[in-house]
Amino acid sequence: MEIEVVEGDITRQQVDAVVNAANRGMRGGGGVDGAIHAAGGPAVLEDCVRRFPDGLATGDAGWTTAGDLPARWVIHVVGPNYNAGERDRSLLTSCYRRALEVADQLGARTVAFPLISAGIYGWPKEDAVDAALETLRTSTTDVELARIVAFGRPAYELVRSRL
Ligand code: ADP
Repeated sequence: MEIEVVEGDITRQQVDAVVNAANRGMRGGGGVDGAIHAAGGPAVLEDCVRRFPDGLATGDAGWTTAGDLPARWVIHVVGPNYNAGERDRSLLTSCYRRALEVADQLGARTVAFPLISAGIYGWPKEDAVDAALETLRTSTTDVELARIVAFGRPAYELVRSRL
């Protein structure tokens, strides 16, 4: 699998699936979650309600339609909330691994990832990047391209330097 980094907005990515850093409730939120629901439109929330009546566990992944986004699917993951004391790193690596498993189930070959847990949830950014890269590098998958979408220049430079 090729791993690349771009600076930009994940809602603009022309890929098979975009990964959303959601929360356990699975009814939308702030940060990248808010951006994906805003750009994807109401179909994304409707599908979340239908497929995740009880939400989703931390470290797990599941998919919905991408609604009005250029992508075909949204793969939602729930990263650990570092600020709330969820600091088990395996919960973070699990998000990347599970997202690739769901991508394989869907037949998605190109997948865009945000830096899960690195925003509102407060995971230290450098380690969030390392956890992403380690897991993407060591996972066995049919996905051909993992695109890390860095939001802003500092995040882009950080991912570049760790890649
Ligand atoms: P979490 O709650 O998992 O920390 P956030 O959405 O707060 O999720 O942040 C995750 C990462 O996504 C952060 O690095 C943040 O800068 C980034 N981000 C926020 N909006 C976007 C966007 N539109 N596209 C890509 N990345 C984004």
